[in-house]
Amino acid sequence: MAALFLKPGREKSLLRRHPWIFSGAVERVEGEPGTGETVALRASGGAFLAWGAYSPRSQIVARVWSWNEHQPPGPALMRALLARAIAMRREQLADAQAVRLVHGESDGMPGLLVDRYGSVLVLQVSSAGAARWRDAIADALLALTGAHDIYERSDADVLALEGLAQQVGVLRGAAPHDPLLIEEHGLKLAVSVLHGHKTGYYLDQRDNRRMLRDLSSAREVLDCFCYTGGFALNALAGGARRVTAVDSSAEALAALRDNVQRNGLDGGRVECVEADVFEQLRRLRNEGRRYSLIVLDPPKFAPTAALAGRAARGYKDINLLALKLLAPGGLLVTFSCSGGVSRDLFQKILAGAAADAGVDAQILRWLSAAPDHPVALRFPEGEYLKGLLCRVA
Ligand code: SAH
Repeated sequence: MAALFLKPGREKSLLRRHPWIFSGAVERVEGEPGTGETVALRASGGAFLAWGAYSPRSQIVARVWSWNEHQPPGPALMRALLARAIAMRREQLADAQAVRLVHGESDGMPGLLVDRYGSVLVLQVSSAGAARWRDAIADALLALTGAHDIYERSDADVLALEGLAQQVGVLRGAAPHDPLLIEEHGLKLAVSVLHGHKTGYYLDQRDNRRMLRDLSSAREVLDCFCYTGGFALNALAGGARRVTAVDSSAEALAALRDNVQRNGLDGGRVECVEADVFEQLRRLRNEGRRYSLIVLDPPKFAPTAALAGRAARGYKDINLLALKLLAPGGLLVTFSCSGGVSRDLFQKILAGAAADAGVDAQILRWLSAAPDHPVALRFPEGEYLKGLLCRVA
């Protein structure tokens, strides 16, 4: 079996069960492992540390599958890891029909995402190791979930960093309906697995969207980066007086309108605006508009910590403008899904935005992703979505 020998002292993170080996930690490679193939990870002296998947093109040259020398990667291990991940969802999210079943490193399966939309599974791989075991994973998923159809959406930008080609299409069974219908906290939503963002929908915000319903009564709501209307629908269902939904995607706004109808909500209370949020917020400010509840759920501005500076300016900009648009007593529900922006930094950005906007604001609640997007304690990098519920005095 091929092996990576680490430089002296570089085994520490592995001993704490952090699953990534950076190329700089490797002293030498024994054998000629191919991309995605299994390598034994060994301390400089030769002691076994873990089984990993080799990814020679990536900065992260190996990702750990197993810390047990007697349990190397293979169909049996894939099945065991999947069974554990699925059991947690059954326990914690028994009645959600749209659920993330596997959340990468935090479920012990580096570079693998699996979302379930009713009877359809959507799989996304972003690491050489997950790609290597794609078929074993697909077979085990069918056996463990009873689903028949798996669609692959391996089209994330990060694939290029791993030297992997994009792969999109039917992996098992038949092509999913487009769009297919899901229900989330009692609201019906159309999800396009074929053409939507990520695997079709943003499941991580499920509980924050539900929270919005309870905050919206009689409020004038501005939903920025609304996509297909997850927050906007909940605002309407919660009795918002009016909802203005802003997104740059015309398709997303069309889906939002359909979703409003589908739920028998009052379309007369919704205004859809196809615009750049940065520009739209300035326009609204110049028009002297006021809202009593604003949602900011932007896309990822900083995938890595190196880009955090530029991302911070983006977050400050939209949050400053939003705080200015809020009437006294108004609520701001604001998020960052940038892995490179820590919770601490995000809070500081908000503090700076409030100071510059000249408003006095309090944090009422810290927000995070739903429990089907867990964060392994040994893998803090897994925490990407963070949010704040703030109230201006
Ligand atoms: N809140 C949504 C998810 C938002 S995803 C939900 O709960 O489902 C981010 C959205 O921002 C996408 O729909 C994307 O089309 C949109 N977007 C990205 N950049 C934008 C910009 N500069 N202005 C307006 N919308 C933008």
